[in-house]
Amino acid sequence: MGRGHALLLASLTPALGGCSGEAPAPEPRSVILVTCDTLRRDALEPYGAAPGCTPNLARLAQEAVVFDQAWSAAPSTLPSLSSLFTRRTPDELGVTSGNRMLLPPQADTLAERLGEAGLETAAVVSNAVLRRFPTPIGDVALAQGFDHYDDRMTARERNRQLFERSAPDTVAAAFQWLDGREEPRRPFFLWLHFIEPHGPYTSGEPLALPEDDALPAALPLGEDDGGLGQIPRYQALGEEQAPARYRAAYRGEVRHLDRALGELLEGLAQRGLTQTATLVLTADHGESLGEGNWWFTHGQSLAPELLRVPLLVRAPGGSTPARRSQLAGPFEVHDTLLAAAGALPTSRSLLSPGASRGSAPSAAGLLVQARGRPGTPTHEVGITDGRFRLAWTAGGEERLHDLWDDPEEVRDLSARRPQVAQELRKRYLDQLDARSGLPVVEALHINDIFDLRAAAKHAEELEALGYGGD
Ligand SMILES: [Zn+2]
Repeated sequence: MGRGHALLLASLTPALGGCSGEAPAPEPRSVILVTCDTLRRDALEPYGAAPGCTPNLARLAQEAVVFDQAWSAAPSTLPSLSSLFTRRTPDELGVTSGNRMLLPPQADTLAERLGEAGLETAAVVSNAVLRRFPTPIGDVALAQGFDHYDDRMTARERNRQLFERSAPDTVAAAFQWLDGREEPRRPFFLWLHFIEPHGPYTSGEPLALPEDDALPAALPLGEDDGGLGQIPRYQALGEEQAPARYRAAYRGEVRHLDRALGELLEGLAQRGLTQTATLVLTADHGESLGEGNWWFTHGQSLAPELLRVPLLVRAPGGSTPARRSQLAGPFEVHDTLLAAAGALPTSRSLLSPGASRGSAPSAAGLLVQARGRPGTPTHEVGITDGRFRLAWTAGGEERLHDLWDDPEEVRDLSARRPQVAQELRKRYLDQLDARSGLPVVEALHINDIFDLRAAAKHAEELEALGYGGD
């Protein structure tokens, strides 16, 4: 090779190495996602609960960024977590009807994206609605993309034929996986989903709360699982009818969860993972503890106690403690996890310096919530820009709230501020338009899964009998 060629090559090399000027992909890094079922933020010390309620979360807040405007996408588990895992709204996914609709295999999930980025992926889930359904069409729902999906649940819920796993056992299962890894140096994505403090509130000792004179002394014990004006049947603690006892038991569950979270944080520190992994802790939704006469239930509306969730993010090595007030929804949590793993630019993370300036969230400055199936009477949509929140039902009921003056959403402003409602609706429609080109995801009904499995079994049996083939 002549000298001229060598010079030419030398001058080209940086550009070639950088692949048309882009920075080389960063090394993948570990991320841990902790989601707690039915966890109200106001039960936690970082969100105003009294000292001693959640000492471990209080300690975590000392080395994390705490978000004050974090919202989930839906008031029940699968719609909420499916949105977080796919960066799509519940309506776009069709995962809108309680916990019966499942993400299809075509959905692009967080675990799949993190796996493609080089991370080993593991889940330890302890709510029965997250159990894995092996199907002839591959994994569905949230199990997609996990190398290891631990859904061992052997504890029976008190009043129903549902299985779950306690918080200490969930933590133990996570460490069992971490300690048994064949490639301990490989970065990983670990997702833990705790069932606590989902009812019935039977874990931990009840936590005494100050007396509340406004509370009724007793409520009827429901004959069904509805929570309007009654104690839902699945929540019944024997013959107990005093709502104060249930509230105390809820707080007891939260403290029980907090202890397990303390074990988790301690165990991660002992393994050196505090230094290397980003930790994100949030909830799938909250719980009504009497608001609007709804007792010990969730899923029934888009009320703030169901949708405002805790969100704490700790960078590797610990973050400088801070509180942030920018909007943070499931899309932002999704992007933060990917950015922390090195699979998205850091500018997409809630921890990026740009995010702290109150910049608009990535979904065009609006968070969207939904429940029920579009086109049915129970369909409801909520949107917030951080200052205002507008929610409307398929039946035509509309509510507008000023979150700055009225975070509990007591005063409806829709008649007094119609222009605000109109502007929010317009932005929502613009956002729908902007997202209309995204791939259509058609959720599967849980019955479809059973039908598919029955069909596959039927085909196997036919094959065994010699009727296989085309
Ligand atoms: Zn849930």
